[in-house]
Amino acid sequence: MAHIAFFSVAAHGHVSPTFGIVAELAARGHKVTYFTTGAFEERLTRLGATVCRYDVATSPGQSPGAFAAGDPSALPLFFLHGSAERIALAERQFAQGRPDLIVYDNTVPFAGRALARRWGCRAVQFFPSIASSRGYALMDAMLERTGRSAEHEAHTAEFDRRLGAFLAEAGLGGLGTEEFMDFEEELNLAFLPREFQPREESFGPHYRFVGPSLGGRDDEGSWQPPADGRPVVYVSLGTVFNRATDFYRRCVEAFDGSEFHLLMSVGEGTDPAVLGALPGNVEVHPSVPQLSVLEQAAVFVTHGGMGSTMEALSFATPMVLVPQMVEQEIIADRVADLHLGIRLDPADSAPGALLDAVRRAAGEPRIAEHAARMRQRIRAAGGARAAAEAVEDVLRTAAERTAGK
Ligand code: UDP
Repeated sequence: MAHIAFFSVAAHGHVSPTFGIVAELAARGHKVTYFTTGAFEERLTRLGATVCRYDVATSPGQSPGAFAAGDPSALPLFFLHGSAERIALAERQFAQGRPDLIVYDNTVPFAGRALARRWGCRAVQFFPSIASSRGYALMDAMLERTGRSAEHEAHTAEFDRRLGAFLAEAGLGGLGTEEFMDFEEELNLAFLPREFQPREESFGPHYRFVGPSLGGRDDEGSWQPPADGRPVVYVSLGTVFNRATDFYRRCVEAFDGSEFHLLMSVGEGTDPAVLGALPGNVEVHPSVPQLSVLEQAAVFVTHGGMGSTMEALSFATPMVLVPQMVEQEIIADRVADLHLGIRLDPADSAPGALLDAVRRAAGEPRIAEHAARMRQRIRAAGGARAAAEAVEDVLRTAAERTAGK
C-alpha cells in the first residue's frame, strides 16, 4: 500500500471535494497525510487521514479582497503565500520516509509540484473548479472578462518575481516560471463531468473528469422540511463571499407570503437577527447540511461556487445563480448555457426578479430534463471510486517503471 500526501487550500470549497477521495483511498489501505489547518483536522482524521497541521496568517476568507476590485490577477500571489513554509513542514514531516505520491490542488500547485520534482516522486493534480490545461486557462478566461489593466500587469510581474524566488529557494532555480506553471501531470483530476468543462475537446486523456465526490460528509446530519409540504427554495452564497445582508433581505422580501418555503444559509459572519422578525415560511441559519437540503429543494439560489454547483447537479436541483465574482460568473454562464439553471446579475436580483427566476427554474421542463441528464453524467463519471482507481493506476505504473529499471 502507498503513502499519499495531499496539499490544498485550507478552505471548504477546496478541502470538501477531496473528503470522499481521502475516505476511498484510506479504505483501500493507503496511508494518507493531509497538509491543512486545524479546521479540517477532525473530519479528515475520522476519514482515515493523518493531518499535518499548519496555521495561515491570511485566511482564504480574505481572498474576496482580491476579487472585490475585479482583479483575479492578484490571486496567484495570494495563493503563493506560505508555500515555502509548507515545503519546510513537509521536509520535517517526511524526514523518516517520503510519500510515494503527492496529490495537490491546482489552485496552489507550488509546494506539491516543487516537492515532487525535488524528491523525484510522482504527482497528481486536481481541479476543484473548472480545469485548466495548455489549451484552456481559467485565469485567462477570467481576465478576458475583467479586462487587463496596468495593475494586472504589475501583479503578474510581482507574481513572476516571487515565484522565481520561491523556485530558487526550493532548489529549482533552473526552472522557468512559465514552465513550472504550465506543467500538466500524467494524471489531472477534474471534479466535474467532462460535459461541464468549457473547451473540453482541448483536454487530453490524461485529464480525468471524475465529477464530484460527495462522500465523507455523513456526520453533517439531515434537514427536515416543513410539514406544510411547500416547495423549498434554498439560498446560500457559500462560505467565502457570503456577507451580503442586503441580498438576504431581498430574499426574505421575495418569498414572504409566497408559495415557497425559504431556507437560507447566511454563513457564520452574518447574524440572522439583522434580518429582523422573519415570516412563517422563512428559516435562516448560519450553516445547514447542504447535501440533505439539496436533495429536498425545488430550487437552489446559489453564488455558483463549483462545490455547490456540482452538489446541486448531483441531485438534479435546478439553480438560480447570482455570481459574486468573475470565476462564479463563468460557472453561472456555463450552467445557463447548458440549460441547467438561470443566471441573474446581483444588480438585477430585486425581490420580484428573484421570485420570477425561481418560479421559472422550478417550472421549466427543459431545465428539469437537462439537470436529470447531467445527474446521469455525474454518476457515470465515477466520483471518488474513479479518482482512487486512477491514482492507483499511477502508483502501479510508477512501481512497474521502477521494477523495470
Ligand atoms: N456548505 C454547507 N453548508 C452551508 C453552506 C455551504 O455544507 O450552509 C458547503 C457546500 O456544501 C459546499 C461548500 O460549503 O461544499 C461551499 O463550496 P463552494 O465551492 O460552493 O463555494 P465557496 O464557499 O468556496 O465559495
